[in-house]
Amino acid sequence: MERTLSIIKPDGVAKNVIGEVIKRFETDSIKIAAMKMIKLTKTQAQGFYAVHRERPFFDSLTDFMTSGPIVVMVLEGKDVIAKNRKLMGATNFKEAEDGTIRKDYATDIEKNVVHGSDAPETAAFEIGYFFNDLEIQER
Ligand code: ATP
Ligand code: MG
Repeated sequence: MERTLSIIKPDGVAKNVIGEVIKRFETDSIKIAAMKMIKLTKTQAQGFYAVHRERPFFDSLTDFMTSGPIVVMVLEGKDVIAKNRKLMGATNFKEAEDGTIRKDYATDIEKNVVHGSDAPETAAFEIGYFFNDLEIQER
């Protein structure tokens, strides 16, 4: 079993597609092991995206991520990191495959509805950024 962090970003929450995103996870046999809705501060967003701090879009991205509530989830399942990335689609929705979350709902390379960890090490960091062990259920 593997775990990953998923975020429904402020644009996804604003578009009212929380249920739609979760339905795609559950339909693909992915289990939700933890979930909450929060609103990030700028400092929290900068800490979460610290790996991107030198990128030209860092300031805009961290502003966007603090622009409204987000839903953070721990997903659990076999190969769930890769499975979630496949359901999400490419970062740029214009390059995303048909039937992916970003192809269906993203409107912008930055406002792309969802986040998913990209490797076991980043998943461990990202899960720990939002949840402690007591908040995560074995599924
Ligand atoms: P995420 O990390 O959110 O799951 P990702 O791994 O597909 O997405 P990254 O390269 O890690 O993409 O970029 C992190 C986020 O930064 C993207 O999801 C997007 O919101 C934003 N981003 C990435 N590239 C650009 C860009 N060229 N211009 C504006 N925003 C960008
Ligand atoms: Mg990434």
